[in-house]
Amino acid sequence: MKKITIIFTIICVAFFNVNAIANGFHDGKSKPGDDKKSKAKREDTTKFVINLENVTENEEESPDTNLILFPSHDLYASWDTLMAHPYKFNESFKSDSVVIQLIANGDGGFSMPIKGPLTSVFGWRKYRPHYGTDIDLETGDQIVSAFDGMVRLAKYCQGYGNCVIVRHNNGLETVYGHLSRILVEPGQIVNAGELIGLGGNTGRSSGSHLHLEFRYLGQALDTEDFIDYEKGELKTNEFVLRKIDVENKYDLRALHNRHKRDIGYARASNSKSKLSKKGYYKVRKGDNLGKIAKRYHTSVKVLCKKNRLKPNSVLRLGQRIKI
Ligand SMILES: [Zn+2]
Repeated sequence: MKKITIIFTIICVAFFNVNAIANGFHDGKSKPGDDKKSKAKREDTTKFVINLENVTENEEESPDTNLILFPSHDLYASWDTLMAHPYKFNESFKSDSVVIQLIANGDGGFSMPIKGPLTSVFGWRKYRPHYGTDIDLETGDQIVSAFDGMVRLAKYCQGYGNCVIVRHNNGLETVYGHLSRILVEPGQIVNAGELIGLGGNTGRSSGSHLHLEFRYLGQALDTEDFIDYEKGELKTNEFVLRKIDVENKYDLRALHNRHKRDIGYARASNSKSKLSKKGYYKVRKGDNLGKIAKRYHTSVKVLCKKNRLKPNSVLRLGQRIKI
């Protein structure tokens, strides 16, 4: 009997404390993501703790979502873990330009998500815009976060396949598409260079590759304006994003509708004119398989197969490569 009374007392104390803690959550302003779901999660935690009869542990384990500040919470209206791109650049971007500090003192800097030849670049395709840069890989290759940040979305999305989106403190979001496996979850803090998934071929993709996008307030930017893919490093630590660049360079759909000759489209058409009638390309100074594959939106693997070459084969000037 004495034992039962003690257990009952512990339960009462636990319940009182938990309620006090739970009520404490409602003090102060609500933050993005502090929605019904997180409230439900807290209530679940409460039940869990009462069963355990251990209040001390509860205080350590249950997350106080009021204390979580999502990266760039002042810039974005919401923290959406379900939709890839709910943000409207034209409505949110009020100034003419903004300086995006890519690397700040004390953060983890930049890491190439994966090193490999580019197989497709930012620009207009025949029927649709291509907002990312495609990097060749083998399914199962490790993909790492480009910068420090917090995972906003980690799920299957149409087109992207298995997709991870990381929000960074400077307002930039990096998107990693076509993964074979996702190894992180929304809300998880990741460092530059930290494993977030494995490369693959899911979604709208033909052949294993990483589709990498950089976005700011929903607007896709050309990753080649940030990254020197040959060197595997950033071109600059401070990226200046101007409204006029978005209009003239990045807003592919509007550009295509305007004059159907945006940068990506022109680049693709120019390069195609250099092929022979039978589909051969003549190697020029400075060429390598990676560059040729990128220019013709194919992969080194495909070129090697068609031409019986190895990825590291040295090319001769004037050599004919079947595309
Ligand atoms: Zn792509």
